Amino acid sequence: MKALVWTQKEHVEIQDIPQPDYTGRVLIKVAYAGICGSDVSVYMGKHPRAKAPLIMGHEFSGTVAAIGEGVKTDLQPGDKVVVDPLIFCGKCNACLNGNTHVCRTLNLYGVDCDGGMAEYAVVDESCILKLPADMPLKMAAVIEPVAVVIHGLRMIKKNFYASACVVGLGPMGLLTAIMLKDSGINQLFAVEANENRAQYARQLGIEVINPKDTDPVAYIMERTGNEGVEILVEASGSPAAAKTITDITGVRGEILLLSVFKEPTALDLRAINFKEQSLIGCRVYTQLDFKDAVTYTYKNLDKVAAVVSHTHPIEGGQEVFQDIIGGKTETMKVLFEL
Ligand SMILES: [Zn+2]
Ligand SMILES: [Zn+2]
Repeated sequence: MKALVWTQKEHVEIQDIPQPDYTGRVLIKVAYAGICGSDVSVYMGKHPRAKAPLIMGHEFSGTVAAIGEGVKTDLQPGDKVVVDPLIFCGKCNACLNGNTHVCRTLNLYGVDCDGGMAEYAVVDESCILKLPADMPLKMAAVIEPVAVVIHGLRMIKKNFYASACVVGLGPMGLLTAIMLKDSGINQLFAVEANENRAQYARQLGIEVINPKDTDPVAYIMERTGNEGVEILVEASGSPAAAKTITDITGVRGEILLLSVFKEPTALDLRAINFKEQSLIGCRVYTQLDFKDAVTYTYKNLDKVAAVVSHTHPIEGGQEVFQDIIGGKTETMKVLFEL
């Protein structure tokens, strides 16, 4: 089968490799595989766990090609499916307490073992969610990031809040802004320094502040009567942005850390004291979040489609990754079409 294989730092190539053995597991014919920030860090050789050679991709959809010997399942060949890519141990305290998504040794398809950037992928039956028969497989590849956003928003303790700010409008931040806007919030702000991404969101009716020409702290304080926002979602992963998030957030506000920072990052802890702000960590999603992300995506196909900017065949993989790290393409979510 054809696979896009990461062989070394900043290099992926198409290889013709034998179809993997699927005894006791399920063989999936991959349709679409999304490129995530973590795939980019694998590509750049910066991911702490990934080891070459590796087939990346944890955001993928497809159809059941074959069911391995000994697998008990209701799935049938031809069923449209998506993969919940988390692999947990089931034995650590987090797992025993039902929080398998924060397993002490959490692994992922496409990082710790081969993933979806290939014609076929082999996964455990327990990771597979069956999709509605009329679900477009292209949008199904975005279910994983949707699940991240659903999980993050569910971590917020306040209900029916009136104001929020999303910092960073990559695919995750944009999805968050879309969901917050749909919740009927009174005031929604977004902060994004990439003008292309800012324009993308503005077209969807989201008010975006570009910190290159407007100071987001001063602007948001003015617009909120000097109160700041009730909810702040950090989706940029930028250390520079992290310094401002406590200023933009109001007294007793909640700050959700949706993006993954690549290194320990400075934060104004004094502001958190004096304003009694809450800082909420979050990581991936629960199995329920993932299941609900399937339904959300199915019911909101047009909204989810707004975050997909490019689709490429895997043959162009090396160029696609090079363009992403070189900042050449103004991208949102990029998918490989198999
Ligand atoms: Zn991802
Ligand atoms: Zn565990």
